[in-house]
Parts: sequence; C-alpha cells; structure tokens
Amino acid sequence: MASFALPVNEVFETIQGEGFHTGVPAIFVRLQGCDVGCSWCDTKHTWQVLDSDKVEPELIIGASGDTARWAHLTAVQLLEQFQTLYKAKHVVITGGEPCMYDLTELSNTLIEAGYSVQIETSGTYPVKVANKAWVTVSPKVEMKGGKVVIEQALHRANEIKHPVARERDLTNLKNLLAGMTKNLDVLVCLQPISQQQRATDLCIETCIENNWRLSLQTHKFIGIE
Ligand code: SF4
Repeated sequence: MASFALPVNEVFETIQGEGFHTGVPAIFVRLQGCDVGCSWCDTKHTWQVLDSDKVEPELIIGASGDTARWAHLTAVQLLEQFQTLYKAKHVVITGGEPCMYDLTELSNTLIEAGYSVQIETSGTYPVKVANKAWVTVSPKVEMKGGKVVIEQALHRANEIKHPVARERDLTNLKNLLAGMTKNLDVLVCLQPISQQQRATDLCIETCIENNWRLSLQTHKFIGIE
C-alpha cells in the first residue's frame, strides 16, 4: 500500500507543557492547514496549504519557526527522523487542525514502533486515529470559520482541554457537554488563557466545583516552545 504523505509545518522536540501529559518529553509534529478561524490563534501561519510554500522535507525537520512553509512527509519518513534525531518516545500531532487528515497510518506506524501518540484537535473534524492514541480535544466553539464541534470527536476524546478567558467560555463548555446524546466519560481540564489572573481564578473555582483538572501552560512559564 502506498504511504500517505501529510503536509508538515514543523517538527521539534520539547516538553509537553499542557494537559494530562504535562512534563513528558515529546516530539511535536505540526501539520499545515486549518479552517477553524480562532481569533487568538498563535499559529495563523499554518492556516493555508499553498503550493508556493511547499519545500523539501530537510527544511522542515528540526527547523522550527513561525513560517507557512510545509513539506509532504510519510509516516515512515517521520519515524526514521524520530529514531535518528530524538530521544522522546511521546509524539504530539498538532496543527493547524490535524484532524483535517486521516491520522490512522501515522499513529499506527508510530505506536507499532514503540511511541505513544497524542493528537491535539479542535473537535471540528472526525478523529481518524489509532485506537491506542490519546486524543486531546480543545473544543473551539463559535469561531470565525463557522465550524461546529462534533460529537464523534468529543466521544473519542481522552481529555477535553478547554481554554478559558471569561465566564462565557465555561458556559459554552457546559452547553456542549449537556448537548451530548450519550454520556461522556472524559477527563476535563480547564486552561486559563495567557495566565490572566481573572481567568485563572475562574478556572480554579470551576475545577473545584466540578472535580475537573487545572491545566497551566507550563512551557510559557519556563520559556520553551
Ligand atoms: S484550531 Fe488551532 S490552529 Fe486552528 S485557528 Fe484555532 S487555535 Fe489556530
């Protein structure tokens, strides 16, 4: 079977700073492409997959940078690079919106080679990934792109990591959870946006009330990507 190539924006090794896997050394694979349209997005350069930005794979691996360039890489090519260049055994597939693509082959290849795999998605696309992959959904509700958070993504989630700036963000999350046709059995993490004190206080209070978990963007405190 021909190997399916994905548009990759950057690959780098760091420490996972957020959510359940906080503190775990990880190889991040950022895919190019997203039509969700979050106004605060800090990776807007990943939104479009333009032929004019396509480069050779050597320019992507290990060369992180906020540019719109991308390269097609197959699961096998990525695995070979991970085994050669990196020590981490946890791979985070992020974006952009990685679930615009079928991630089954990539996640299966990595898991079979001994890696654990985590997907970070907005929940607006069906999640196509290996059964053993950990899925983190950060539901993006009422964003400019007009996408809707879908139930399949929430039910596949192992973790819902919700960015919170104000009360309305919590209302959106509660409405989303209440609208499920089946009960969700999932870890919920609230994450204050940009470490704002008001947002942090709101998250602490709501986590205690609901027995949810607080997620801090620890990488921003220690100055790593
Ligand atoms: S889903 Fe992620 S990449 Fe897409 S616009 Fe929102 S924050 Fe940015």
